[in-house]
Amino acid sequence: MRVQSLRLENFRNIPSLFITPGEGVNIIYGDNAQGKTNLLEAVWLLSGAKSFRGAKDGELTLFGEKKAVIESEFFGEGRVQTSKILLDGKKTAWLNDIKQDSVTAFAGKFTAVVFSPAHLGLVKDGPAGRRKFLDTSICQITPRYISVMSQYQRILLQRNQLLKDISYAPALLDTLDIWDERLANLGGTIIRSRMGYTARLQQKAAAIYEGISMGKEALRLCYRPFEIGAQEGDCAADITAKLLQKLRESRSEDIRTGSTSAGPHKDDLEVLLGEKSVRAFGSQGQQRSAVLAMKLAESRCIEEMLGEAPVILLDDVMSELDASRRDYLLNHLTGSQIFITCCDKGYFQKLQDGRVFRMEKGSLSEE
Ligand code: ATP
Ligand code: MG
Repeated sequence: MRVQSLRLENFRNIPSLFITPGEGVNIIYGDNAQGKTNLLEAVWLLSGAKSFRGAKDGELTLFGEKKAVIESEFFGEGRVQTSKILLDGKKTAWLNDIKQDSVTAFAGKFTAVVFSPAHLGLVKDGPAGRRKFLDTSICQITPRYISVMSQYQRILLQRNQLLKDISYAPALLDTLDIWDERLANLGGTIIRSRMGYTARLQQKAAAIYEGISMGKEALRLCYRPFEIGAQEGDCAADITAKLLQKLRESRSEDIRTGSTSAGPHKDDLEVLLGEKSVRAFGSQGQQRSAVLAMKLAESRCIEEMLGEAPVILLDDVMSELDASRRDYLLNHLTGSQIFITCCDKGYFQKLQDGRVFRMEKGSLSEE
């Protein structure tokens, strides 16, 4: 997967830009607030996902302008394709000149993986971000998982409502069994998918982290199902049975709190260096390296499943990494098109092969 050309019009602080990036590493450097992240954000939007900065569509158009355009020619599924997004109060998308119902039609057609400093929350913050990380990747690989997830969310809300209702209408207790079974069925499928994906991710992340740290540290990712005792070898039906058992055991507690105390919405992905949690004990550089390894491993998993390496977008990763870790990043990520932003030109002196662009006040020039 690669971007062959990208044209922007009135996107964020970029009035007009055209770039034909290289097939390998593309460095975008420049001072703060020049538009480097904006450029990465535009490439990311072509994957059909929402902005990785949580921006609303209306914030993406250059101040004072009414419409913005992101247009690309990309190589994917063995051929050159085109995509276009028009933001003019609403959002319209075209794929190969055919108007689409929404940008989500780009999902799976153009794939990308992004790392920005905001993603450090993946190791620093609570489990919700890590669950989302797993779910987003699994959705890219297995689109069917999207509907399993949304059914689970719906049934979870309905079960929680029922738990609240039971406290003043005890006769409703009889109906809880059916909701428990539905929830456990979907929950078992989700936990099984996440465990399987984590095992694949773990292998790749460990190998990448070993490279980044020059073999000095070992990264381990472990899926932790919350208090249901699911094991690696369990099939979805085994996990469903264990979850159902747990839901029954914690029924009175659940009715008291009006919420469901077990299921995939309570699970976590543990990120360990050796036996120690990276969140609790990792240095800044170790935390950054761990997130980076997880993101790059994600890109390898997608490549394995879809047969094409996603485009890798690395926003501001270089700071807090020492010279050997930066060197690994610049020169050992072969086979993918990569965009890396940074402020300091000195960071890429060791770049052996790649293109270097300078971003200044929203306009781009090649060095
Ligand atoms: P840093 O090195 O600090 O991360 P950057 O080069 O990545 O800087 P960007 O985040 O790309 O900077 O933002 C560049 C500028 O774009 C910011 O000053 C921001 O205020 C401006 N900007 C954001 N949205 C818009 C918009 N809709 N219209 C015009 N300017 C915008
Ligand atoms: Mg930036």
